[in-house]
Amino acid sequence: MISDNLKQVKSRIGSVQSSHQVELIAVSKTRSTAEIQEAVDAGQIHFGENYLQESIEKINFFKGRGLVWHFIGPIQSNKTSPIANNFDWVHSVDRVKIAKRLSEQRNPSLGVLKILIQVNVDREESKSGVDIVNVEEIVSEIESLPNLSLKGFMTIPSPENSAKSFSQMKHLISKYPNLDTLSMGMSSDLEIAIENGANLVRVGTDIFGQRSYN
Ligand SMILES: *Cc1c(COP(=O)(O)O)cnc(C)c1O
Repeated sequence: MISDNLKQVKSRIGSVQSSHQVELIAVSKTRSTAEIQEAVDAGQIHFGENYLQESIEKINFFKGRGLVWHFIGPIQSNKTSPIANNFDWVHSVDRVKIAKRLSEQRNPSLGVLKILIQVNVDREESKSGVDIVNVEEIVSEIESLPNLSLKGFMTIPSPENSAKSFSQMKHLISKYPNLDTLSMGMSSDLEIAIENGANLVRVGTDIFGQRSYN
């Protein structure tokens, strides 16, 4: 079931005309280790998690299996250390203060932590992320931090006009020749995101089914 879903999502990704590589992140928030195991058995390597506590348990469970873990949820400043030392990527950095803490707390023996700045492209009050006009000043500050490597941007656009928002992100990253990663596109809109340059897509529901929060 999960393996069939993965196949389908990959074929959707493959059907988009694009000249760049796209990596699929399976968003495994609220999912059990048994469900993640099914995806791993089907060849899935990249996983995305939003909630720190449940994610650490899963990361420990799969230690040594070569999986790549992406933190994609809101970050509380007193919870940065376990994020810095258990994840390979953090997509949801929206303050220099958080980036500084991640850099200070990352164990250098783990190598650099890959960072994306979350951009609130549609200026929605309900969403975290940096306003697009404030991106420039935080890029240079984050780039100067040791133990981090700034790769690009992540966004969660409002569903009504995601095509326009994705294209704004494409324009934004084109101004930064050092940055090459756009994390955007979920179950419902991954095709339009890839057309606009997304190279990390984050898919939960279409791989694992509807989430039940209980
Ligand atoms: C939950 C979540 C996803 C996955 O969303 P689906 O609609 O289940 O594919 C992607 N990105 C973020 C930041 C999420 O929180």
